[in-house]
This record gives sequence, structure tokens and C-alpha cells, in this order.
Amino acid sequence: MDSRDKLARDALKSQFMRRVYLERPDHDDSQGCNAGSLLHDIVDVADDSYPRQFHYSRETYVYIYVLKLRSDGSEVLCKVAAASLTGEKRLVQEARMYESPNTASLQGTVMPKYHGLFQGDVNSFFKVTCMILEHCGKPLSRPLIHEDFAFRDAVLNAYSQLHTAPAMLVKGDASEYKYEDIVRRGNGQPCLVDYGSSRPHRGDCDQPRFDFKSFTPIPGTDLSCGEILEVSKAAGALMDNSFEIKGIGPMHYHPKKTIADYWRSARSEMMARGYNETGGHEVIQKHLEEYKNYLKDMEALGKPGNDE
Ligand SMILES: [Zn+2]
Repeated sequence: MDSRDKLARDALKSQFMRRVYLERPDHDDSQGCNAGSLLHDIVDVADDSYPRQFHYSRETYVYIYVLKLRSDGSEVLCKVAAASLTGEKRLVQEARMYESPNTASLQGTVMPKYHGLFQGDVNSFFKVTCMILEHCGKPLSRPLIHEDFAFRDAVLNAYSQLHTAPAMLVKGDASEYKYEDIVRRGNGQPCLVDYGSSRPHRGDCDQPRFDFKSFTPIPGTDLSCGEILEVSKAAGALMDNSFEIKGIGPMHYHPKKTIADYWRSARSEMMARGYNETGGHEVIQKHLEEYKNYLKDMEALGKPGNDE
């Protein structure tokens, strides 16, 4: 147990953690009559088997613990930033997304249900911020591509729900996509977690959902969201539309193109690399066959009934 962990645990057992409302800055709780306005009121602090540590992120300094709700004894997750401005900023940003009325209808399905953000000063030096969320299940432990078709399909639908009305939000940049942010609920449906880098969607989403067996859009020719492209690739929905011959560059695939067509389009590059027409045809043929096998594999991934 390090000092932040100890500070966080002390705060969770304390009676100083007070609910803060980000979307209602005028919220007046000065009368103190708002039931459930203390963490202590909604979380069972008497049970000594809690809090249990669930996860710790070295990047964001956020601890996640499992706690127990007072109301029905169900387990919830508690994300805690203790004496960390980076962690606090991230939790506040995330809480703002949960408190927005736009995400209310998604909570409990594709997003976890939100139970509030709490803050308190454990001692005069350290501020502790924590957020209580539904415990939806375990995150994926391997890349999305290994999940069955129905689940991958449902994950693409979940992301498309985030990107369209009423939520209209981007969970993060393409580089921030992680399979660990996808949780399989007890009912087999996906829940997407961690909104610490989420932001409102700018304008309408150009294409919130790609069908399986779609060819990857050519970069720069359309306005697809990076996040949607990334998860569609991860789910095995998008197929490359070109094959690469080393040193020559990509050949754009078309089912009607012949070997002679590919040779014609790359003749000067291939001749510069020392290929004559016969040798060029052979190497194109070999790469095209490999690419067609790849397409066959991708088609199998894009169909129900081919699950592991
Ligand atoms: Zn989008």
C-alpha cells in the first residue's frame, strides 16, 4: 500500500467526501437537506472487506476500487484521484460527460451508470476526488478480433451510439482506442468505459458505423472519425483495399483487374527494380494470391457462425 493508496482508502472510509454537481453550478446544498449528498450515505463503509483494489493507472494516477452500495448491496467501481491534479482533472472531465443529459439514455447499457462525483479534503494538505460508477464486468483481456461476431457487431453499434444523437461524443482519438475499455456485461452486451479523454462530437458523424466486409476508406478522401475507423479495424470489419509489393508500393485491388492490368499500372517502378514483364507478372500473381487469401479470412470474420 503506497501513500496515495492509503490516502484514497482513508478518504473512502471518511465522512468528508461530499457530492459535487458539475452541470449545475448554481446547485445550492447549503441547507444540507439533500439526501445522499455524502459518499458515506450511498456507500457501505461498515463492511471491512471493502474497498478492494481493482486497477491502478500509472499514467493518470487514478486508483479504481470496488465498493458496496448501501441501498442494495451491489458492487460499484470507485475511481479515485488522491493528491493528484492530473487525476482530478481527468475525473472531472469524465464526470462532466456522465452528468450531461445527452448521455443519460446510454447509461446502464453502452455506458456504465453514474452515481456521482465526490470531493473532500482528507487533511489540510490533500484533496481527494472520487467517482462512483456501475461495475459492469471485466474488461476484455485480449484484442477485440478474438471475440465472437455478435459481440464485435454489438461493439460497433455501441461506438456508433456514442457518436450519434443524443450522446454526440467522441470517446477519444484513434490512438487512444484500447480493447481494455470494452467490458462484456453479464448479459453478453458490451459496455464502453473510461471517458477521461472524451469530448463533444464536432458536427454530425460522417459514418458512425461500417458494415463488416467494407473496404477501408482511402485516407484523405472522406471525413470518417479516427475512433470509428480504429474500432472498425479492430473488430475485423474493414478490409485493406490494396496489397503491397515490397519496394514497389501498394497495388489497388479490383476484382476485375487482370495481372496485366496490375503490371501496366506499376511497370515503370517494377522495371526500375529490375523486373522484366515475365518476372513482374510472377511476383504480382504471388502477392495477389496472398491478398485473396486474406480477403477470404476477412470475409469469414465478418459472418456469424464462424466464431471460435
Ligand atoms: Zn464520429
